Amino acid sequence: MTRVFNFSAGPAVLPEAVLSQARDEMLDWHGAGMSVMEMSHRSKEFVSIAEAAEADLRALLSIPDEYKVLFLQGGATSQFSMVPQNLLGGRSSADYVCTGEWSLKAIAEAQKFCTVNVAASSEDKGFSYVPGRDSWRLGQSAGYVHITSNETIGGIEYHWVPDVGEVPLVADMSSHLLSRPVDVARYGIIYAGAQKNIGPAGLTIVIIREDLVGHAPKGTAAMADYRIHADSGSMYNTPPTYAIYVAGLVFQWLKGRGGLEAMEKSNIAKAQLLYDYLDSTDFYESPVAVRDRSRMNVPFRIKGGELDAAFLAKTKQRGLVQLKGHRSVGGMRASIYNAMPIEGVQALVECMREFELDHG
Ligand SMILES: *Cc1c(COP(=O)(O)O)cnc(C)c1O
Repeated sequence: MTRVFNFSAGPAVLPEAVLSQARDEMLDWHGAGMSVMEMSHRSKEFVSIAEAAEADLRALLSIPDEYKVLFLQGGATSQFSMVPQNLLGGRSSADYVCTGEWSLKAIAEAQKFCTVNVAASSEDKGFSYVPGRDSWRLGQSAGYVHITSNETIGGIEYHWVPDVGEVPLVADMSSHLLSRPVDVARYGIIYAGAQKNIGPAGLTIVIIREDLVGHAPKGTAAMADYRIHADSGSMYNTPPTYAIYVAGLVFQWLKGRGGLEAMEKSNIAKAQLLYDYLDSTDFYESPVAVRDRSRMNVPFRIKGGELDAAFLAKTKQRGLVQLKGHRSVGGMRASIYNAMPIEGVQALVECMREFELDHG
């Protein structure tokens, strides 16, 4: 068996130990005589799996008691519409900070439900930075303020938490949740699709302050109403059972690695290795403002742009895969989530150096 170093932005690399455990438990989970995939979501076995996953996630993020944790489906994309449907509470506008492709998608969806005030945007410089808080023009009566705290495509990350006063702060953390400690109490809602840094596609995690639940207007579809999911312990309908199980294994793996502070250290070390190399040469360039560079998604270009195909062929030959940049921006992108070992980043930098010697 050969495992590659997988730099995919998502669905993405998972810890090998987690995959091995899932394999070992595939046919017979803890003596149940069946796979987790075959279990009723209401069986005591599966309920214990879901409860352990929630407890471990709460422990990892130190989630305060007055927050609900929901295990939903529909991806982060479904949250683009669920957030306005549940949080406006009769208000007609919401504030959005626009930092890239995922912000744009969130904004387009919210516009179906309310007036969107773009409080700040970094479009003027190709979404290469996070607009400083002093430049934001928040509305007078916004229902909430929405940010995309890590732009997976552009590779920019908030390394600070904006102060927005009493208005709930909503963050799409799809591609960096669990990569570092988070002060959950600063947010009204945190949401994330699991397939970037957490687990298999199909699971969407929503962490929501209790007082924000229960404000969807009459006539809201049941599946779009946080209250329905909160009241039923995320079991209003059949939840993505296997994805919850694998995410639970990832939570245990993270605890075993020393939790999010330890993960943050390791993620800083990995990102630094790559950015230091990018900064040391003119052959490659990083398009992102230094202080806003993402630790999870590292876009880079080769000067001139004509050598991309040759670079991707060379890296692939070395077992370094999924390095092609997003189709909307081109170039290259290395996603180096929690489960990417530092050896993968070392191998990438080594290969980049050789490629530069051959072509620079
Ligand atoms: C991938 C991604 C999404 C979309 O996630 P889906 O699960 O495909 O709906 C939204 N926001 C960010 C920041 C992402 O990285």
